[in-house]
Amino acid sequence: MANPLLDDRDVEFLLDEVLDLSTLTTLPYFADHDRGSFELVLASARRVAREVLYPAYRALDEQPPRLIDGAIHVHPRLKELWPRVRELGLQVATRPSEVGGLQLPTTVFTLATAYLMAANLSVYGYVGLTQGAAHLIEAFGSEALKRDYMAPMYGGAWTGTMALTEPQAGSSLSDVTTTAEPTADGHYLVRGSKIFISAGDHDLADNIVHMTLARLRGAPPGIKGVSLLCVPKRRLEGGKLVDNDVAVTGMIHKIGWRGLPSLALAYGERGDCRGWLVGEPHQGISYMFQMMNEARIMVGLNGVATASVAYQESLAYARDRPQGRPLGARDPATPQVPIVRHPDVRRMLLRQKAIVEGALALLVRASWYSDLAQHGGDARAQLMLDLLTPIAKSFPAERGFEANVLALQIHGGYGYSSEYLPEAWLRDQKLNSIHEGTTGIHALDLLGRRAVAKGGAALAAFAAEVATTCDRARAAGVDAAWIAEVTRGVEVITGLTAALGARGLAGDVEAMMLHAADYLELCSIVAIAWQWLELAAAAKTGRRADRAGFYQAKLAAAQYWIRTELPRIDHLAGLCRSGEDSYGRLDPDWL
Ligand SMILES: Cc1cc2nc3c(=O)[nH]c(=O)nc-3n(C[C@H](O)[C@H](O)[C@H](O)COP(=O)(O)OP(=O)(O)OC[C@H]3O[C@@H](n4cnc5c(N)ncnc54)[C@H](O)[C@@H]3O)c2cc1C
Repeated sequence: MANPLLDDRDVEFLLDEVLDLSTLTTLPYFADHDRGSFELVLASARRVAREVLYPAYRALDEQPPRLIDGAIHVHPRLKELWPRVRELGLQVATRPSEVGGLQLPTTVFTLATAYLMAANLSVYGYVGLTQGAAHLIEAFGSEALKRDYMAPMYGGAWTGTMALTEPQAGSSLSDVTTTAEPTADGHYLVRGSKIFISAGDHDLADNIVHMTLARLRGAPPGIKGVSLLCVPKRRLEGGKLVDNDVAVTGMIHKIGWRGLPSLALAYGERGDCRGWLVGEPHQGISYMFQMMNEARIMVGLNGVATASVAYQESLAYARDRPQGRPLGARDPATPQVPIVRHPDVRRMLLRQKAIVEGALALLVRASWYSDLAQHGGDARAQLMLDLLTPIAKSFPAERGFEANVLALQIHGGYGYSSEYLPEAWLRDQKLNSIHEGTTGIHALDLLGRRAVAKGGAALAAFAAEVATTCDRARAAGVDAAWIAEVTRGVEVITGLTAALGARGLAGDVEAMMLHAADYLELCSIVAIAWQWLELAAAAKTGRRADRAGFYQAKLAAAQYWIRTELPRIDHLAGLCRSGEDSYGRLDPDWL
């Protein structure tokens, strides 16, 4: 069987049996939608993913774009398939009808785009970047910028980028040095270098719009002096597109995502690079947070999708590959059994399932909160989205990588060869813990800001949401011990956060943050356990008989996560509380 990328039945389960979609469709913004219109979007995304994107994956991985005479040339297959991707209109699907959108819930958009990511991560990259870049102009740009640059991006004719990183400013964006000089004509002259800019050049579209962080002349130092500029590759002059002095100075030779070029760019080498200020001066970082927060959810979904396609492949392989006999079988003349019959292989499959489907449920839940916050004015949903964002970004990246390793392991020696695809997905997956903020940076953000902000309001919202799930699980007849363990997980987080926050308030920020990575992992394990409890409740009351074992497998994965993974939080909490200081007191010169 061809790789299904994502389990369609799981997607239906989330939409029809876990969530109550009427909560969304009764909101005015989504009034034109129903389950039927959602299905149309999902069906077209599935079709393009399976028939167009997945078959091109290996070719794009094997032959990355080429840099010739300062211009990027993508793989010819990508040029052929790009119109099919554009036609889906996903870059504008969630936006209002006034800008050409479908007003589609992010919840449904997330599930539809997961298919495309699982099929071909780097191709989806062009869409995701364009959507985020155009949305920045929609939210903060002038009417002229909306007309000239946002509209062709939303229309699918042009693409967009986020141009933040510089050689000396990666995690530390306050150190951006690209400059923007005001002119009497209303535009700015931009000079500087950017690095790692994905889709920064290509020959898929006539124009590329770089949403660029830069400093205006006289700007204050640090993060409060960074502004957002719209800097096109080609600018509009008298209705024509003319070169805007953005040069490609190098291409990164990446180990994954090889259909999407990531580039070093130089602005203004000829002194003729024009940019237009988006919104107010010095507000660039706060505006860019809109795109970064969206991109973090997208990167989390990249992680889920990349782990999902590998899980599906290893499941099919394990059912197919005969090797060895059951432990109790003594007769060598009996036929070998498929490796899925060995409990250790099932351990690897169930762990992948628990990570992939638990993380997909979390991403869908985060999208659900985004819909309720933006279009339902739901303050608790906004708190939940803020709290979950670093978890929804980092868990699929880190544990997704582990799932990808397990998929390769199930293929044995064949997995360690480029004839099979698990190694390629492993390379793709690794990026997700690096871009859009490294896992280390998200750990600091979660503990240092999001969990303690507003007197811990987000954690209180989290506790309330988990309590609602516990009620549902209880009513569904889920094992009371599972409910008690998830409830205890929330108590562990709440108590630990208060203890660590007190260290920070007492002035010992280093001690508070020393085990931020363990704190992030602990919170992630509990968040996924919460999702598994929710899935278990739906499975327990599930009545559809279309796939034997579907609900039992859900309950097995819930049991696996709650019984084998959740207990790890006590060890992690112990590390955070004790302040175990092996690396804390380590002098770098000793190494
Ligand atoms: C393939 C690829 C595509 C990319 N696409 C884009 C793009 O389209 N647009 C864009 O603007 N950028 C892009 N990036 C850049 C990406 O966002 C950065 O690589 C990332 O933010 C990390 O920055 P850095 O590489 O400079 O690493 P550094 O910031 O140097 O970090 C190195 C290590 O040190 C740790 N570290 C750094 N600072 C701290 C700290 N204060 N506390 C604790 N630990 C710390 C990090 O966690 C990391 O492990 C891309 C990168 C890659 C690899």
